[in-house]
Amino acid sequence: MRKITFVLMMMMMGLVHAEEAVPGAAGIGDSYFPSLGNGGYDVQHYTLDLAWDEATNMLSGTVTLNATAIHDLSAFNLDFLGFDISAVHLDDAPAGFSRDGRELTIQAAQPLKTGQDFSVAVSYSGVPGDGVPHYYDVFARGWTRHEQGVYVASEPNGAAFWYPVNDHPLDKATYRFEITVPQPYIVAANGLLTETRENDDTITYVWESRDPIASYLVTVNIGDFVVEKAKGPDGLPIRNYFPARVFQQGVLTFSRTPEMIAFFSEMFGPYPFEAYGVVVADRSLPFALETQTLSLFGSNTALGGASSENVIAHELAHQWFGNSVSLAEWKDIWLNEGFATYAAALWLEHTDGPEALDRYMRDLYQPLATPALALGHFLPPGDPPPDNLFNGGVYVRGAWVLHALRLRVGDEAFFDILRTYYERFQHANAATADFIAVAEEISGQSLAAFFESWLYDESVPEVPEMGLKPR
Ligand SMILES: [Zn+2]
Repeated sequence: MRKITFVLMMMMMGLVHAEEAVPGAAGIGDSYFPSLGNGGYDVQHYTLDLAWDEATNMLSGTVTLNATAIHDLSAFNLDFLGFDISAVHLDDAPAGFSRDGRELTIQAAQPLKTGQDFSVAVSYSGVPGDGVPHYYDVFARGWTRHEQGVYVASEPNGAAFWYPVNDHPLDKATYRFEITVPQPYIVAANGLLTETRENDDTITYVWESRDPIASYLVTVNIGDFVVEKAKGPDGLPIRNYFPARVFQQGVLTFSRTPEMIAFFSEMFGPYPFEAYGVVVADRSLPFALETQTLSLFGSNTALGGASSENVIAHELAHQWFGNSVSLAEWKDIWLNEGFATYAAALWLEHTDGPEALDRYMRDLYQPLATPALALGHFLPPGDPPPDNLFNGGVYVRGAWVLHALRLRVGDEAFFDILRTYYERFQHANAATADFIAVAEEISGQSLAAFFESWLYDESVPEVPEMGLKPR
């Protein structure tokens, strides 16, 4: 009582600035996906302590977030869909919570102060995705059970389908995974395997990522894996997880990985993380995903031999562009996909020479320049429709943005631009304007009109240097 009076007095004298604690925003501010992520706090670390039941695909356990309040908070949200929540603890005390769609709102009994560190632990069980209406899907539902095990692919919003999370690349964090599975299953996740604990008839795999990860790049894979260990440049640990039946061919298919890491490190800057490798699901997949330090592929890629080289280089290149330099907003997805597509073309140039690159880029130009093909499939990459985010335009025309830039500014400035952009935004977030600013600074050219037409014009620009014109 006395204390309150004292504070009121100080306020009247203008010595204390009264800031009222308010709920954190339900979204982090992404213009394409307003409900993704949340405001009011910043997560530093996640601990995912989860057990998986093989027969039912049920997940149960506790996920703990260590976070910091960025304004005075009376409540805050996590993104989380489905499951039965048995308890929520805020700094070890039971906390009230409510749920509405993908928003899990947690009440702070005492307001959290600006800059205050806190932990929140959510205990839950259920089958991922069960009872979750399909209008919550954008593309991937995260945790995916298949006949031989589990893979996790979450881009862009699948993480909230299996753990409570601030689900946006603007809030990257480090992770510890303690995943318990029936023996003899093996678990592969991001970072490094630091411990295995045998229980009665289960086994717990502890994986840790010291490097911050965007939630859509978090992965846990369960299967009958055989592990190949290798070393990359400067002793970088490489661990590849193959299903037993594709092990032999998989080792061959991915054998150029160390060489690719060395090449991209020279082109872009040092490899960003503590490890690399791949995990191959024991089934064919119509996609691959650059899950951080452990890219995910289907068995079709592992069995594809040399024809898989392009996609292998693409997912590896994302470790620099997408994973280390992350998006600030999903509308800028061409900064991920255009860069990875062009990086795979650079690898082709490295292995097969400049004429191979020339042929490759001409082949990519054709569908862009053919209106009947471009319509709906190869849209201008700068602002893809939210419901067609991964259309071919962000990949193919996105790669062409970079190739056209290279033709315009010359090789020396172009590679200097890539290295500077990476150096400046590694382990952080970037927007299209950030890349344009670096390109203008390094080249000394005004490139606003160039980027405007390549990123946003309905029809693809001409490339006079190569004699390429839209039809
Ligand atoms: Zn990609």
